[in-house]
Amino acid sequence: MDYLPIFLRVQGRLAVVIGGGAVAARKAELLLKCGARVRLVAPELAASTTALLRDATATQLTHLCAPFAAEHLEGVALVIAATDSAALNTQISLMARALGVPVNVADDADTSDFILPAIVDRAPLIVAVSSGGTAPVLARRVREQLEALLPARLGALARFAGSQRERVNRSLKPALRRAFWERFFGAAANLERLGENDANARGAFSSELAAFSQGQDAAGLGEVYLIGAGPGDPDLLTLRALQLLQQADVLLYDRLVSPAILDRARREATRIFVGKEVGESTLAQERINDLLIEHVRRGHKVARLKGGDPFIFGRGGEEIAALARHGIPVTVVPGITAALGAAASAQIPLTLRDVSQSVTFAPGHVAVADTLDWPALARCGHTVVFYMAMAQLAGLTQRLQQAGAPSDRPVALIAQATLPTQRVVHGTLADIAEMARTGGLGAPALLFVGEVTRVVQEQALESLEPCLEGVA
Ligand code: SAH
Repeated sequence: MDYLPIFLRVQGRLAVVIGGGAVAARKAELLLKCGARVRLVAPELAASTTALLRDATATQLTHLCAPFAAEHLEGVALVIAATDSAALNTQISLMARALGVPVNVADDADTSDFILPAIVDRAPLIVAVSSGGTAPVLARRVREQLEALLPARLGALARFAGSQRERVNRSLKPALRRAFWERFFGAAANLERLGENDANARGAFSSELAAFSQGQDAAGLGEVYLIGAGPGDPDLLTLRALQLLQQADVLLYDRLVSPAILDRARREATRIFVGKEVGESTLAQERINDLLIEHVRRGHKVARLKGGDPFIFGRGGEEIAALARHGIPVTVVPGITAALGAAASAQIPLTLRDVSQSVTFAPGHVAVADTLDWPALARCGHTVVFYMAMAQLAGLTQRLQQAGAPSDRPVALIAQATLPTQRVVHGTLADIAEMARTGGLGAPALLFVGEVTRVVQEQALESLEPCLEGVA
């Protein structure tokens, strides 16, 4: 290692930044954020530096509108040279070193005593990344990857833990404290609770601490993450889904969860398929609930992955109810539901001013279809997306027409949305079923019904039909 990574306390101390450009502004801003007092030396200022001066108070930031001079280094704890002259920067560095004050020269590791790392800021938790000046772009890339992996609420979690430390020290013997914190930080549910309210988080914390200090292995060891895996493209996973996939010991997944998504989980995680394969019988929902409970009881972190969003035609509600009956903590992660993924990739706006003011997601298979309000679904000025549209496609389109929709109402059928195999077929209520049959389109597919399906084809919004129903 060529550098010693340290975190330096600069609160209330004086740092000098020489330079008036954007780089100097960024460095001065960072110093201010850490509570330092900043002396900015520059005969001229760029816009970003001027903005900084406007926002900071005079005690935090003073501007010396002059060319650099030796006296500017007096009494400072840190020097940052960020002028556009390499010769001047080197001269500043030599002078700072002579005074024994640590110096950083922007973009020049050789004349710097310290370098500023790329940081992931979840204050008070900070991750610093450095390539020792050899490859700053690589360090920034690593920073970006960490940024995606570390939940935004980590800072709140660290603060909360800090506020409870004394209490834990009073309640637990030193030998037990570490195990307690390991468990606390390992449970995603704790992170989730901090998003709700402080009282809830404190309440849950108290009971966990009480159980732990009484030596009970509270049933809170394992937990479930009910994760919406999105419509298929793994890049459409949310950051939280990805974070929890990295933590899960066991994955229980449905048929609609693509292999590319399972690849994003930990390699060591056990993968259990619980969906329906063609020709096989569905593993009954009860059996799935039992499996979830069984793994949680063994102390596992179980990711229950569902296609799209768990709460849209996903039976997520039944699963959380079953888990709640057993007192098992569940973290629900929303996913991009198939209709949203398909709409984006086929460029169908779900609502559109003057053309469609609302959208309904409806189930397209017949058992439930009987209970739908068909006249409402048939109305114009409205977009309907049918899930599970393939099995009864002809029946669906007929019922809409019987309920008053014109046979030439535009529709789009989208199969395997967001996947490389995606197919989009445009037609009308009258002909789409036949087009799907001859085109060989298969499940999973969605049927979009409404004028909005023509936006991309028509290229001009004026040619779309506004809804005139009810207009005298
Ligand atoms: N919870 C899921 C829906 C499950 S129901 C969600 O929010 O998306 C299953 C139906 O979803 C399929 O019959 C199909 O209509 C739709 N579906 C899921 N993934 C799809 C995809 N990639 N392309 C088209 N339709 C899809």
